[in-house]
Amino acid sequence: MPNRRNLFFFYKQTKELQEKVEPLKALAEKNDFHIVEEAKDASIIASIGGDGAFLQAVRQTGFREDCLYVGISTGELGFYCDFHIDNLQEMVGDILSEGIEVRRYPTIEVKVNNESSFYCLNECTIRSSIIKTLAMEVYVEDFHFETFRGDGLIVSTPTGSTAYNKSVNGAVMDPKLACMQVSELASLNNNHYRTLGSPFVLSDERSLTLQVIQDGNDYPVIGIDNEALSIQHAKEIHIHIPEKRIKTVKLKDNSFWHKVQRSFL
Ligand code: NAP
Ligand code: MN
Repeated sequence: MPNRRNLFFFYKQTKELQEKVEPLKALAEKNDFHIVEEAKDASIIASIGGDGAFLQAVRQTGFREDCLYVGISTGELGFYCDFHIDNLQEMVGDILSEGIEVRRYPTIEVKVNNESSFYCLNECTIRSSIIKTLAMEVYVEDFHFETFRGDGLIVSTPTGSTAYNKSVNGAVMDPKLACMQVSELASLNNNHYRTLGSPFVLSDERSLTLQVIQDGNDYPVIGIDNEALSIQHAKEIHIHIPEKRIKTVKLKDNSFWHKVQRSFL
């Protein structure tokens, strides 16, 4: 078990970031944190960048449950970053004065063709990769719910609900709820094809199965957060909410709803 104060910094190795990270490392060491060179030895993983960098930090370190992820922003404060790289003193102050809390974010687990399984912190998207529409059978557990035809579907976590999901008029969901939201990308609705037409939310006791109808558009693109899966022939996609939670730190007066207000209102 790594030491509780083993800290790993995750960031793009550019000269600009390197220069910004050096004072951060010095400050951390001064405050009795031990900087480790490999993520596997860390108990705290700090991503430096934006929300996109945080998603990558979690993905590339394997969605670990035994460590704390911390988002340090270099631009606007987003949804996964509670700290800003230009306010280091404030960050140390908050940590020392116990002005922080740990929060747990639900994830979704995606299984493709009953083989490989992947976790997502924002969302999984299944999209047509060609100009033709993509058709899928949509099952809620074993129940055939609808036949979808259109550009694709987004299955979002609560923390992902403010990202892609929101751009297609999905609702913002409280991360205290372990659930997933299914929203449509340009569904065809006419006398032949019918879908619900609005987003819907599933509880952690349910699963969702998407079967790609093999009608010539058989190779959808599958996105997991900010990465594309390299699996070409995804016939069946099974999605559920696992026990796995991502632990991150939260400033006491910076709840999810503060962030929603700060970003959108
Ligand atoms: P990007 O194209 O740079 O991201 C788009 C924007 O989404 C960035 O401003 C990013 O913030 C922000 N973002 C990421 N996660 C968020 C969250 N949970 N809540 C609110 N905003 C969030 O790519 P990226 O930075 O790697 O982010 C990947 C995400 O982009 C995907 O997971 C997907 O949700 C989203 N996306 C959105 C659309 C759309 O809205 N039409 C299309 C494709 C992907 P930062 O600038 O801080 O990174
Ligand atoms: Mn980004």
